[in-house]
Amino acid sequence: MFVVFGWRSRAHKIGSGTFFCPREGGDRAYEHKEARRWFTLFFIPLIPLDRQGDYVECTSCKSTYYTAVLDAPTGASIQDVMTQAIRYVAVTMTLADGHVDPEERRVATEVVRQFANVEYTEADFSTDLGDLDSTHLVDYLEELGSILNEHGKEAVLEASIRLAASDGSIDASEIAVVEQVGRALSMSDAHVRGVMATVSDRSQ
Ligand SMILES: [Zn+2]
Repeated sequence: MFVVFGWRSRAHKIGSGTFFCPREGGDRAYEHKEARRWFTLFFIPLIPLDRQGDYVECTSCKSTYYTAVLDAPTGASIQDVMTQAIRYVAVTMTLADGHVDPEERRVATEVVRQFANVEYTEADFSTDLGDLDSTHLVDYLEELGSILNEHGKEAVLEASIRLAASDGSIDASEIAVVEQVGRALSMSDAHVRGVMATVSDRSQ
């Protein structure tokens, strides 16, 4: 009788979820797998040996990645944070000068809808005006600032300036909110003033 023995590597699933697949450029399902070497007898794995490390596999394109790929935000989570942040900006800006006029309400709704690319009505905005606590504005913006590049941050600031101008003028209280938005996004004051100057030049 002869004995066939050897070693082979087997991977088993230790987790799963949704991630941003860099190869496909979109949100996909993944499996988190751990590879382990096994001692085999007659090709049957019998004894688990050393762990060879874990990795992430995209269930759609089968690409494998280091687990650090899971640290990147998914497209859906970026969308969520953007939507939350712009809703808070719209509410804070609208309430900054102490009164809400119909034009302001209309522009605020439009800015949120366009910026976040979501369904959002004037009724939704009215609900937000009553419900959202402006003290959370900075939290959402800081989270957004950690995701967006400079171009993305400028887009948020421009949307904020549009909101500030929606009642026909930008007063000191509204400028203060624009500056607060910029700082929370970790933009320098000079950068914020530059964007404000560009936007006001364009609208003249
Ligand atoms: Zn993929």
